[in-house]
Amino acid sequence: LPYKHDMDGAESQVVYLSLGSNLGDRGEHLRRAVQALRKEIRINAVSRIYETTAVGVVDQPAFLNIAVSGETALPPEELLRFVKGIEHAVGRRPTFRWGPRVVDIDILLYGDRCLETEDLTVPHVEMAGRAFVLVPLAEIAPDVVHPGLGEPVAALAARVAGRESVRAAGPLLDSPEQVR
Ligand code: AMP
Repeated sequence: LPYKHDMDGAESQVVYLSLGSNLGDRGEHLRRAVQALRKEIRINAVSRIYETTAVGVVDQPAFLNIAVSGETALPPEELLRFVKGIEHAVGRRPTFRWGPRVVDIDILLYGDRCLETEDLTVPHVEMAGRAFVLVPLAEIAPDVVHPGLGEPVAALAARVAGRESVRAAGPLLDSPEQVR
């Protein structure tokens, strides 16, 4: 099993997440979300920001998307609760008690586990068809194999890369040192 042990001896797992925002200061929302993730995830890599034109719904602003990898001791269901809490915390506006959600966080991969509960399906059900997920993920994890499909992320990304307009729009963080 791909478990590692952290400094406290707890078992930790390598996880890959996708973050997106299309409301307000999108880059700031993503930065705040990544900062909040550090409470439970030792971040290993953060992709550049990719901008994706929203397809289908005409009057939606473009999305900014990133992929993040790290190690966590949280079991899958607790990781889901943790990231949903960050979605709410980052989306909360000063004037509203509970503003609209401005950041979406999906769990893409949890080690090499395949699991399905009422609340959580890992690998994420739609990741194999989404360029805005796979293109950022391929930047930080090209050789990681999707445990359900048995294919590396780079191959999956290459297949869908032309489908949506996904373009790199610069780094999330000012310096690479901030990644860790
Ligand atoms: P969303 O549409 O992204 O807000 O997600 C809605 C729901 O999808 C969440 O509340 C989760 O219960 C569920 N879900 C299922 N699988 C996943 C996953 N891999 N990552 C995040 N959410 C998931």
